[in-house]
Amino acid sequence: MARTFIENIAQKLRIIPNIDKKMHQGASSSLRKYPSMEEWDHHTELDAQAWPKQVERNFSLVPTTCFNCESACGLLAYVDKDTGTVSRFEGNPNHPGSRGRNCAKGPATINQINDTERILHPLKRVGKRGEGGWKQVSWDEVLDDIAGKIRDSLNTGARDRVVYHVGRPGHEGYTNRVLKAWGVDGHNSHTNICSAGARTGYALWHHHDRPSPDHTNAKVILLCSSHLETGHYFNPHAQRILEGMMAGAKLIVIDPRLSNTASMADHWVPTWPGSEPALFLAWANMILQQDLYHREFMESQVNWEQYLKAVHPDAPCTFETFIDKLKEEYAHYTPEYAAEECRIPVEQVIETGNIVANSGTALSSHVWRAASIGNLGGWQVSRTLHFLNVLTGSVGTKGGTAPNTWSKFKPELPNEPPAPDGWNELHFPPEYTLSHFEMSHILPRLVKEGRGTMDVYFTRVFNPVWTYPDGFSWIEMLQNEEAVGCHIAMTPTWNETAFFADYVLPMGHASERHDINSYATSSGKWVAFRQPVLREYERRQGNDVEFTYEVNPGEVWEEDEFWNELSHRIDPDGSMGIKKYFMSPNKPEEKMSIDDYYQYIFERVPGLSQTAEEEGLSELEYMRRHGAYQIEDATYNKHEKEGWPTPSGKQEFYSETMIEFGYPEHAIPHYKIKSHVHPENLQGDDEFCLLPNFRLPMHIHSRSANAKWLVEIAHRNPIWLHPSDANKLGVEEGGLLKIETEIGWFIDKVWVTEAIKPGIVGCSHHIGRWRRQQDAGNRMMTNTVSIEDRGDGKWRMRTVEGIVPFESSDPDTNRLFWRDGGVHQNITHAVQPDPISGAHCWLQKVKLSLPKAGEEYGDVEVDTNKSFAYYKKWNSWAKDREHHPRGERRPLWMKRPLSPKKEHWFIDQANE
Ligand code: SF4
Repeated sequence: MARTFIENIAQKLRIIPNIDKKMHQGASSSLRKYPSMEEWDHHTELDAQAWPKQVERNFSLVPTTCFNCESACGLLAYVDKDTGTVSRFEGNPNHPGSRGRNCAKGPATINQINDTERILHPLKRVGKRGEGGWKQVSWDEVLDDIAGKIRDSLNTGARDRVVYHVGRPGHEGYTNRVLKAWGVDGHNSHTNICSAGARTGYALWHHHDRPSPDHTNAKVILLCSSHLETGHYFNPHAQRILEGMMAGAKLIVIDPRLSNTASMADHWVPTWPGSEPALFLAWANMILQQDLYHREFMESQVNWEQYLKAVHPDAPCTFETFIDKLKEEYAHYTPEYAAEECRIPVEQVIETGNIVANSGTALSSHVWRAASIGNLGGWQVSRTLHFLNVLTGSVGTKGGTAPNTWSKFKPELPNEPPAPDGWNELHFPPEYTLSHFEMSHILPRLVKEGRGTMDVYFTRVFNPVWTYPDGFSWIEMLQNEEAVGCHIAMTPTWNETAFFADYVLPMGHASERHDINSYATSSGKWVAFRQPVLREYERRQGNDVEFTYEVNPGEVWEEDEFWNELSHRIDPDGSMGIKKYFMSPNKPEEKMSIDDYYQYIFERVPGLSQTAEEEGLSELEYMRRHGAYQIEDATYNKHEKEGWPTPSGKQEFYSETMIEFGYPEHAIPHYKIKSHVHPENLQGDDEFCLLPNFRLPMHIHSRSANAKWLVEIAHRNPIWLHPSDANKLGVEEGGLLKIETEIGWFIDKVWVTEAIKPGIVGCSHHIGRWRRQQDAGNRMMTNTVSIEDRGDGKWRMRTVEGIVPFESSDPDTNRLFWRDGGVHQNITHAVQPDPISGAHCWLQKVKLSLPKAGEEYGDVEVDTNKSFAYYKKWNSWAKDREHHPRGERRPLWMKRPLSPKKEHWFIDQANE
């Protein structure tokens, strides 16, 4: 890098040192972005902390992947050779998804592993569940006790009472294999509070339930989100959106809130939540009326013949007829209609509509969370958005939007057990035939209704008490030992759900565990290796490590090895048929090791063997060294070979499945369901729509509360309120508001801003963490609260103390300058299961008022009986038992994350 004139003079006068000279003396050859791979085993650099002394430090650089969101970006751990500890994390330039870049949460992994309050040893409850007493126990004791409980449950013949509930996904292949080996239909996830709405809309079109936009090569980038690009897939997408924009792409962001992404857009379209299908169909109408549709794609890929034969049997079955019928069908979605529904100017509908209509086959679109998970009928958002891709022929094209599965590597696993021999109705109740997927947010209600119980319940990096709506109902369920026989929280940090566990098992952060990752972050396909970096460092030093907890802080372990050991202890002599799945694939008389497992998988990654061989490495060694491998550079137009995995084999504009399962009015894309927060459903001047489903880009749900760099940036969650609404309500910046939901209320401070649409209030759902006096952990971002069970379903939470600096081995914990930890809003939210997608509809109808005397900032009240009654109303909208064609519990062609044997997909047979 060229020096400035002043720097040159200063260097000559020795006011500043000759940095170039020093670098050439051995530290590093020149300024560059990343050390070259040849130096990864022996990288040397000057110690910035020692400045102005020039002290060299020596590092071993070990690749792994970030665990702080789904993107699994590459990280490079700098292991200090003098101390044998990780000094920092930077990006891994070899990772095809992130290409050396990270968001703030990636490098902040160092805060997580050095968290002075993390859980370092397995803990067992002392006293009543939830009281807060713990004692340290050994891994041996944990394994034996839990193995015994699982064995007892399996020996009853039940196949649905051992459950693994995952918050932060990962290890899906690994854990599903474990559950299959145990024979249980025991996978539960967080999908129904996250992506179920979007997934359903996409699945109806082409079975693939997630989009993968090719932003880099797009002409128009269309984002529909109050969350997007700060979550899925934040950094990998953000960098590609910028590439696309630098190459001339137009960015349109649909969001009632001026998000970071919207602030960078060419067009910010602040639609009323839930009205987005009206906008997309108005644009579809514009495309049709102007004959800008892509005839070749439509004619060859869409099931238009099936539609005409079923709906217009007397009309000629020609493509021209189809287009005429489409024009008639969508004619009433005029720009004026969309403008009224969305509450935006008609000129904006037309201007942005023309941009979309002229995007050709390079329309990259994305919806995740946001409107699709916020609203009753939110699944219509993704269904109508994809319609635009179909009309423009931009499905799977360069610059278009592809099914995510085209870019996701699916590993072949060793010795796969058969599918589970049962169907878990607590996860897939019969009335939610099309849910994507497990109805996890209504679990406490299903248990309360007497629909089932659990013997052993693992929560894995999962914090429903805090993250989910109505956390008090979760507390009630977890405290009921008849409903949940044994609750095991597997988590790297304390969280509000772990307070109500029987065991808290410390599991590793990103650099302390194994996993493989592959996500549709771009148009290519890659696989990455998450590895415990100190284990790899020891290997490089020639030291054997049997279990990962030997190198992690304290006794922190990882799930992979834990499940292996647990499975052996459930079935020590092999008589239950479990043990055989945990023996080495190559040496059947030996236990399967982590290396056996991953070598087996990597040997089967297309192209990897040859690439590894060129470097004289085994496949596993290659992945340990590089951290990632690019399998395909681009995955365009795969349908030309693979077709579409739908009943018709086409893109399903017309869905016979919807008709068969009792929704004939939704056979084709429309806007027939008005959201529960549609303006028609809000009365008076004090009823608003609460938008709680956006995230601040520096936080995650449960593991960033003691990541000090992240917490310093953001630690409170005020209510976003438009100035016109603030005037109306008589509240000023920083003033207090009482927000009443269907089941309770909370008091929060106000942030008056034009960055939110009038009539809507926003509140980020990543802040407002708490602990009680008796609980440990996360003191950088948790308020101390009192929780009062007032009986008859009535609960109250009050903030006893805000955030207080504290002494620890890290001097920064004594330098905390913030005192306000925000408010827990989610716990006051009513559960609102969409009857079709099963999604929790996050947006809440709320009443706003000034707090009464005695009501203070941070106060929360909830009535779980009211919550249950409200849930029953939504539950009654789901289809019941007569809507199971051929006895199918759900359409046989639709996915389940862990699919039981096919015979269990039929409701009648299961009842016999
Ligand atoms: S986007 Fe950020 S949090 Fe997500 S994996 Fe990448 S670096 Fe980690």
